[in-house]
Amino acid sequence: MAFTSINPATGEVYATFEEHDAAEVDRRLSLAKDAFEQWKHVDLEQRARLMTTAAELLESELPVQAEAMTREMGKTFAAAKGEAGKCAMTMRYYAEHAATLLADRTIVSSGSRSGVRYEPIGPVLAVMPWNFPLWQVIRFAAPTLMAGNVVVLKHASNVPNAAIAMENLFRRAGFPEGCFVNLLIGSKRVADVIRDERIAAVTLTGSEAAGESVASIAGSVLKKCVLELGGSDPFVVAQSVDMDLAVPMAVTARTQNNGQACIAAKRFIVVESRAEEFTERFSAAMGALVVGDPMDPATNVGPLATKGQLEETRIQVAESVAKGAIVTAGGKALDGPGYYYEPTVLTNITGDMPAGCQEMFGPVAAVYVASDLAHAVAIANDTPWGLGASIWATDDAEQRYGLENLSAGMVFANQMVSSMPELPFGGIGRSGYGRELSDVGMYEFCNQKSFYVA
Ligand code: NAP
Repeated sequence: MAFTSINPATGEVYATFEEHDAAEVDRRLSLAKDAFEQWKHVDLEQRARLMTTAAELLESELPVQAEAMTREMGKTFAAAKGEAGKCAMTMRYYAEHAATLLADRTIVSSGSRSGVRYEPIGPVLAVMPWNFPLWQVIRFAAPTLMAGNVVVLKHASNVPNAAIAMENLFRRAGFPEGCFVNLLIGSKRVADVIRDERIAAVTLTGSEAAGESVASIAGSVLKKCVLELGGSDPFVVAQSVDMDLAVPMAVTARTQNNGQACIAAKRFIVVESRAEEFTERFSAAMGALVVGDPMDPATNVGPLATKGQLEETRIQVAESVAKGAIVTAGGKALDGPGYYYEPTVLTNITGDMPAGCQEMFGPVAAVYVASDLAHAVAIANDTPWGLGASIWATDDAEQRYGLENLSAGMVFANQMVSSMPELPFGGIGRSGYGRELSDVGMYEFCNQKSFYVA
């Protein structure tokens, strides 16, 4: 089988690569295992030097790396440049802070000396999605490499070019061979890799179905597993909202990455007293966005990443409308070529429609009206997911109410939910378990070894 990326702006083939056969996978796993035996002894200063070199390389090639992402999965060129820059910034963060984050933690006990050491555990398999082709990889790879583990990447089948670009980046930066290896394999072959004794643990970012499969296989061989899955993040608009701030942020939060972000706000829950104003302004702003060629600087929203993604969005909106949803902006796909869908706002949402009970992975917003803030938070929490949530309020008490009562792995006030290297990232419920980024994410794949001296 060949891995082919299709440019979603045109529907044309962008790049094709051969799948790795069993012998090649075996060779690469051995490379990773051998590399780990060396890499775990490399001191932190040297690891940091190499990580900084990789960051510098990425920065020096930013437009080239960004254009490749745009051509392969359709995000706007501006967003792709932002993503590559954020990767380099995060690599620098871990190069700079790893020594502090990984320093032994002293714990006062009955012993003369006791605490926790953070030691690497081996090659970690990373099963990654296509929506942020570089960022998803780096936010795992930078901390895990700095901790002394090595990376085995199985990237999404529609972004093989990004996978190869990442492997090349670390090799060219001088990382020893095997510290970062790609497996160009389909998802059906992931189970065997998890079971392979050379793999120590696995992390998956992707859909719930993939999470269930990966977690059950990891469980069957007692290997550590971290899951970053989907969500339907609430954006709660309180009475004291600053509408001039909230409306443009709502548009960005829903349409970033052409609507295909796990932490995109997907449900907009507005208290009744502000609902008419919010819905009118939000619908007008969504309707005014420029949809088109992702390389064009004037474009706000590019195509969806695949034809399947476009089809799913089309069906979700059509079924929601058939069940009574009202379209206040957008509502249809654009004529091809390319997989474009109009930024769309739906109101009158009920729990039995796709907009009310499924993750919408396209530029489609669902607006709910709540009688008051307590009701808004109750609607927000009435979900099987719990990745991010945001509260939009200028009043301290309303802000605090949101921060304390919204059920999610991450809650932001007056700012759209986003990832940053300093802050743990992850969800609860069907959004997965475990964390990435910060010190907490780094420790997920460390032996947190307790020590005690009498
Ligand atoms: P996906 O279909 O689950 O694919 C993600 C990765 O998992 C791909 O590498 C895929 O390989 C692999 N995969 C799929 N099924 C598998 C299985 N049964 N066993 C092992 N591996 C499997 O998800 P997606 O469509 O790419 O991404 C969209 C989803 O990811 C959304 O739900 C989104 O919310 C979520 N997401 C979550 C986060 C987060 O941090 N929480 C971030 C980004 C995206 P193939 O490509 O070869 O099928």
